[in-house]
Amino acid sequence: MSDHILETADLTKTFGELIANDGISLGIERGEVHGIIGPNGSGKSTFFNTVTGFYESDGGQVFFEGTDITEMGPDEIARNGLGRTFQIASPFTDLTVRENLLSVYTDGLRSGLRISSEKRARAQEILEQLEIEHIADHEASDISGGQQQLLELGRILMLDPSCIMLDEPTAGVNPALQERILDHLRELNEEGRTFVIIEHDMSVISGLTDRVSVLNQGQIVTQGDFETVTSDDRVREAYLGE
Ligand code: ADP
Ligand code: MG
Repeated sequence: MSDHILETADLTKTFGELIANDGISLGIERGEVHGIIGPNGSGKSTFFNTVTGFYESDGGQVFFEGTDITEMGPDEIARNGLGRTFQIASPFTDLTVRENLLSVYTDGLRSGLRISSEKRARAQEILEQLEIEHIADHEASDISGGQQQLLELGRILMLDPSCIMLDEPTAGVNPALQERILDHLRELNEEGRTFVIIEHDMSVISGLTDRVSVLNQGQIVTQGDFETVTSDDRVREAYLGE
């Protein structure tokens, strides 16, 4: 029996007439890096938003660590250990990199008035692990797009998630920094964290993922390892319409 850390059952999200997620049933195995690919508009970001409580689903269920999280809001889901990043990183631009990490609330209360020494130590650890300590005191508006992606990852790590969903973490990032982000993801995965990653860069998908699911028009059309999936006719067809 497989050990699914995250599972969706017939998850559906509509926008008016549009069925953006059309009954998605997906099991994510504990410890894997699972890629989600598919043409533009196939419903990848919507899936992340519905799973992590940013959108209310129109049908189906989401289970995380065996708990039904379908009705939970984003903060509660994050505190339960399911983290996510957005396609566009949006740090608090008037705060420094370190302040951005410290502004993540871990206990349901907005901190800021009083920041525990434990939380400071955690932020320091993350700054070092992600190699962004040298820019810790820079305002987030002054750092590069790639560094903002690392900061976004760092903010999620403050909550010590067991599973992290990343929406195009290397989009618009220069190649050198892209390699570093991938190295950090591999290291975090070796520490035991599970990843679900949306990515249009196939070299990233092939170098990082254990399994891949392909979305087209809101449905999973095929699933398997990278080689199998990319040689599938249904996948070629899905991308031909782009
Ligand atoms: P992908 O991430 O695969 O490119 P999306 O999940 O962003 O695709 O979008 C899937 C479909 O849902 C698209 O047709 C998009 O226009 C639509 N969509 C996404 N978010 C919204 C929204 N908030 N309101 C209306 N339509 C949306
Ligand atoms: Mg998207």
